[in-house]
Amino acid sequence: MLVKCPTCGREHEYDTSSPWRPFCCERCKLIDLGAWASGEYVIRGEPGTADPEFAAAEIQRLNTPPEKKTGR
Ligand SMILES: [Zn+2]
Repeated sequence: MLVKCPTCGREHEYDTSSPWRPFCCERCKLIDLGAWASGEYVIRGEPGTADPEFAAAEIQRLNTPPEKKTGR
């Protein structure tokens, strides 16, 4: 089953065992939760996975979605 990630809009396989569903990955979930803004993720997460530039780009994309939002 393919679902669209609420954060980046990318279609991905819906995995019921995935801890960050319905997002496509950990980053997207954390971005959605706003953990990036608070800096929590940088502290708790693994150093290699913290990518502020990626988060900034994703957040910017969120503000200008290519299609209509799937908020409801
Ligand atoms: Zn995503």
